[in-house]
Amino acid sequence: MAGQTLVTQNTNLSSTLREHRVFPPPAEFAAKAHIGSLAEYEALYKKSVEEPDAFWADAASNLEWFAPWSQVLDGSGPHAKWFVDGKINLCHNCVDRHALSTPEKVAILWEGEPGEVRKITYAELHEQVQRFANVLKAQGVKKGDRVAIYMGMSPELAMALLACARIGAVHSVIFGGFAAHALVDRINDSSCVAVLTQDGSFRRGSEIKLKAIVDEALTKCPSVKSVIVYQRTKSSINMQEGRDIWLHDAVGSVAAECPCEWMDAEDPLYILYTSGTTGKPKGLVHTTGGYAVGTYLTSKYVFDLRGDDVYWCTADIGWVTGHSYVVYGPMQNGVTVLMYEGAPNFPENDRFWKIIDEHKVTVFYTAPTAIRAFIKWGNEWIEKYDLGSLRLLGTVGEPINPEAWMWYHRMVGKERCPIADTWWQTETGALMITPIPGAIATKPGSATRPFFGIVPEIVTKEGEPVPDGQGGLLVISKPWPSMARTIYGDPKRYEEAYFSEVPGKYFTGDGARRDQDGYFWLMGRVDDVINVSGHRLGTMEIESALVAHTKVAEAAVVGRPDEMKGQAIAAFVTLEHGYEASDELRQELRQWVAKEIGALARPDDLRFTDALPKTRSGKIMRRLLRELATTGEVKGDTTTLEDFAVVAKLREQDEA
Ligand code: ATP
Ligand code: MG
Repeated sequence: MAGQTLVTQNTNLSSTLREHRVFPPPAEFAAKAHIGSLAEYEALYKKSVEEPDAFWADAASNLEWFAPWSQVLDGSGPHAKWFVDGKINLCHNCVDRHALSTPEKVAILWEGEPGEVRKITYAELHEQVQRFANVLKAQGVKKGDRVAIYMGMSPELAMALLACARIGAVHSVIFGGFAAHALVDRINDSSCVAVLTQDGSFRRGSEIKLKAIVDEALTKCPSVKSVIVYQRTKSSINMQEGRDIWLHDAVGSVAAECPCEWMDAEDPLYILYTSGTTGKPKGLVHTTGGYAVGTYLTSKYVFDLRGDDVYWCTADIGWVTGHSYVVYGPMQNGVTVLMYEGAPNFPENDRFWKIIDEHKVTVFYTAPTAIRAFIKWGNEWIEKYDLGSLRLLGTVGEPINPEAWMWYHRMVGKERCPIADTWWQTETGALMITPIPGAIATKPGSATRPFFGIVPEIVTKEGEPVPDGQGGLLVISKPWPSMARTIYGDPKRYEEAYFSEVPGKYFTGDGARRDQDGYFWLMGRVDDVINVSGHRLGTMEIESALVAHTKVAEAAVVGRPDEMKGQAIAAFVTLEHGYEASDELRQELRQWVAKEIGALARPDDLRFTDALPKTRSGKIMRRLLRELATTGEVKGDTTTLEDFAVVAKLREQDEA
């Protein structure tokens, strides 16, 4: 049986298991936090799982509802419904109520890549979103229609989501870095009636010509009747008569007021495609009421939001992190949300630190891939900045290697800011396993403990519990309000992918283990687990050992078939600035892993590369490396790959 499950039989086989550093919540932080002690967290957690209806009703009562719900939760598994009969509007809760209570507060603090700054107050946002919504209506967009959004990180992008939510149109944001064919697939998958876009967007000093890509895509998208274009770069674009209109022209000719549509709690809010790290992207559908409550509450408690925060999540709105933690979560909490248009290394490698100091950012939320890049660029870029405004840090997207965590803690948090390593997924809508920063001590590399109402378990494929300390499948055993309700147009795939693998539980696809303190350690995707002579190794453990070596910047580890051992370990490594690849270093690194984890984990192949293949959201795509290590070819879906040149180069090296 152990052969079928993700169990690390030899507990020495885990470098993160040997991670014993613990960082209690800083006293000063805890003193002011919403939840300031472990006892408080534990009491509230207990209530949230023992009396979920009372707990979630209480949470929901912080939002404004047009009509109350008759039942908190109805049904289970893929059929759970939340806040049954309740009527609510997300745009109202993000904008209207703050426009009344704090009209002068900056809602969106935006910095363009070339350096211009815009500050939009809640009152201004209220006005602009209403006009935007009326433009949609004037174009014939109705409640329930699907609207594709393909824009750069401009305030108008946030407004586009809010305007759709206001009138009950279902938005489908497509990341602005995707090519035309990805756009075609996603627009046609849900028959979008309109596309919201902009002329172009600045990235790393050049313009991404978004409208031209839309034009190309729309030759193959018969459902699209109109295109609304926000003018950002002022470059010349083609406007198709009868189909395309300028937003700035249209807003002048519509009414200033647009009442919010009363949405049923279970009406769809949006469709969003997953990053495509493991396969073909799936269009997850999120609904309104439960998603509102989940994103509101997690933002409040995990980012510990207060009225005076300047909050910056660096994710693009094209990903779920941007939906939940650039727009809906923080705006329901009425804080100032910082948005930045461009690249972290433009014009130079210190852009993020400059932004933090200039705008006095208090809460900063980014991804391990960005942190590893900062480390690679060298400390001289960050050392000259004060960063004294920061009080809390977050990370999301991949497991964070303990060494990257420590750098984040020292260099960005100045050993003063707690770090929330937040584990969650597009499917879960909101944070699931994460420190509550004033209450839960952190351990580098662990997402720590479950959020309120979330019941994660580590089990075998048969659903049997796995003892603490051993790896297994991460499942969630109770429904929660912000979970996705289906895959657009394919409810069967939804049930099969998430509710059939392990009987009676939501299957995450990730491997993890729990330690004796009840902390969760994510080990990587179950599909990526490597089986060496019957020992099952998570990719995370070996990669973290490699990254812990001073000369290594990033590492990706995959298995390839091996006659003797079942699988052999292939490692792909990028080096820190200033180090050269050599045979000697290759041997040194293989030995290093053997010493850190055990001889079994020693990579059989170790290749140096300038870059690793990543999704557009910055995650390492191990499945492509696995294909490459196994067959020397890459045939899998590469539509969400950031830079195909990386794969091409690896393949060339292979042939050489
Ligand atoms: P696809 O489902 O198409 O393969 P994806 O899983 O990368 O794409 P997302 O929903 O954006 O798409 O990512 C969720 C996944 O990211 C999680 O299942 C997990 O593997 C990983 N992840 C996110 N945050 C963390 C974290 N804090 N620690 C460890 N892993 C994380
Ligand atoms: Mg996934």
